[in-house]
Parts: sequence; structure tokens; C-alpha cells
Amino acid sequence: MSVLVYIENIDGHFKKSGLETLSYAKAVADQTGQPVAALSIGNVDRDTLETIGTYGIPKVIRVDKEQLKQFVNQAYATVIADVAKHVGAQTVVLSNSFSGKALAPRVAAKLHAALADGASSLPAIEGDVWQIRKTVFSSKAIAVEELTARTKVIALMPNTVEPSEAPTAVQIEDYEPNIEDTDFSTIVKDIVRATDKVALPDAEIVVSAGRGLKGPENWKIVEELAEVLGAATACSKPVSDAGWRPHAEHVGQTGLAISPKLYIAIGISGAIQHLAGVSSSKTIVVINKDPEAPFFKVADYGIVGDAFEIVPKLTEALKAY
Ligand code: FAD
Repeated sequence: MSVLVYIENIDGHFKKSGLETLSYAKAVADQTGQPVAALSIGNVDRDTLETIGTYGIPKVIRVDKEQLKQFVNQAYATVIADVAKHVGAQTVVLSNSFSGKALAPRVAAKLHAALADGASSLPAIEGDVWQIRKTVFSSKAIAVEELTARTKVIALMPNTVEPSEAPTAVQIEDYEPNIEDTDFSTIVKDIVRATDKVALPDAEIVVSAGRGLKGPENWKIVEELAEVLGAATACSKPVSDAGWRPHAEHVGQTGLAISPKLYIAIGISGAIQHLAGVSSSKTIVVINKDPEAPFFKVADYGIVGDAFEIVPKLTEALKAY
């Protein structure tokens, strides 16, 4: 029995959330005393695959087929389940990313496994019964899920584990998976990247702004601050509803739920529906001219003042730092 971790890549580069899953899988393997292997799908060069050893994973299964160049839910799920059987995995770990959310239930169904999606803790293990925590109800509560099936699939919430190094040599095994034409009933023909900026769901730092910015023409100050911090940008719902920013940036109850290390909220009141998507951020900084703005109640650091004065000064200070 072993632990298998599927590591996602974009254009042959591993995502940070993928490195987090490696460290998580290694920790689960250490807890259970089982061997651990990683699975890489698609064209990833040898040097990149060998970096997997940095996180204490001694074996990589490489599945590199032209058909799998683009991400396809059904086909990738079939490959992961097939490789899990090949290595005798009792635990499969993947990221609770956009693609991970689509894959995890499919893999669990194929393996007749219990599924913990959005996991935010290591399992508390008692024999075959594992308890895993996850945040629910827009981060207002924590649920403890009990996985009783022998085989388990865990989709790890991004930014809950820090990738930690435990270098070891890596053995790479090429594997020919059993995939059928029916696994390709939907195919992605092409992916056009809309932006080169940091992806919001994976971002460690997020600079977010609301209606206090008055209009889309003022977002330059938000983008400049984000750039100097290497951060992703986000916004409140009315901002995306008004078309000031793309809907993909909308965070909150009806938008994305994120948990970055640092969330900077500029000109956002802090309505409960907004907080629902960001309150599990590790550190929250609020910039608002109204000292009574509800966001200050959940802020770790607050600056009362005009965003149009404070944000450019903050950017300049960080540039000089
Ligand atoms: P406002 O409430 O208008 O706040 C603007 C803030 O900017 C104020 O606090 C003001 O003091 C400050 N400000 C103004 N000028 C300046 C300045 N020069 N410098 C500094 N600060 C300034 N909202 C979300 O964000 N995400 C959601 O997912 C979401 N889902 C919802 C679901 C439902 C069912 C409902 C009913 C609402 C939802 N909302 C959501 C809307 C939510 O209730 C709030 O209306 C919204 O979050 C407010 O956005 P805002 O803070 O940008 O704007």
C-alpha cells in the first residue's frame, strides 16, 4: 500500500499548490509508514521532474502522451486512478485547484474511495478511519470529515501547507496508462492565457479593491501595488458587477473563496458576503477612510485614510525597500 500524489503543471512547470501537495503527501506517508510516489501527466522535462525529490518524494511516475497534452477531466481522472492501482495506492493526494476540484470526485468514484475535498489539515488516523478538517459555510465553520473507506482521495486546499524540503534522489518511471477513446468525449482544443499575472486562487498575496476606488480608471494604483508585491488582484462583487474588473477577480460568498498569506483590502466595506470568501486569509490589512467600516473588526492591521493618498505611498515605500 502506498500514497500517490498527483502534481499539476502549467506548460511543464509545477504549480506552487502542487509543491504543497508533495509535502502533504510526504507527511501522510510518514504518518502511515507507507511509501510515496508522485504522478506527473504531460510534457515535463527530466530536470523539473527531479525537483520532486527536493520534497522527499523518491519516485515519479511519468505519463507523457500527446493525447494528454491538454487537460481533459475524464482522461486525467482515468490516468490517476489507473496509476493509483498500478502503485497500489491506498491514498491519493491532489490539489483542490480548479482542475483538482473536477478530478477528485471522479478519481474517488473510479477507486470506490472516500473523498475529502478542500482538506485543510493532516488526517487524525485511527486504523482505517481518518478524520480531516475543512472549512465550510463560506469559511464560517470547520467541519471534521470522517473517511471510513479503505481507499482515500484527499484534495488539499491551496495555501494550507508550506512546501518543506527533505531532499532525496528520484527514480523516474515511464508508464503507459489504460485510456479509452470515451475518456476524450470533451477535449480542450486550445488554451489562450488572458493574463500573465499571478493566478488568484494560488496567490500568496492578494491586493483587492472595492467601490471606494470610485471607478475602473483608478485601478492603476491597485495594480502597481500588486506588481511590487508579486500579488494577484481581486475585487468586491459590485466592482465586477459594474464591469470595472473581470468577474474572475470577484471574491466572496458568490465569488472565489481564497486563503492567501496576506490579503490587502482597499476601499472595501467588509460586508459579511465579502468576508465569507477571504476571512481565512492568514493576515488581513484594511485601508478604508471610514474608521467604522466593518472590515476593521477582522483586520490584523488597519489604516484609516484615503486610499488615493495611502496606496501610492505604500507602493513607493515598498519599491524603496
Ligand atoms: P461599499 O459597501 O460601497 O464600500 C466601499 C468602501 O470604500 C466603504 O467602506 C468606504 O468607506 C470606502 N471608501 C470610499 N472611498 C474611499 C477612499 N477614498 N479611500 C478609502 N476607502 C474608501 N460582495 C462581495 O464582495 N462578494 C460577494 O461574493 C458577495 N456576494 C453577495 C451575495 C449576496 C446574496 C448579497 C445580497 C450580497 C453580496 N455581496 C457580495 C455584496 C455585499 O453585500 C456588499 O454590498 C459588497 O461587498 C460591498 O462592496 P464594497 O465594499 O466594494 O462597496
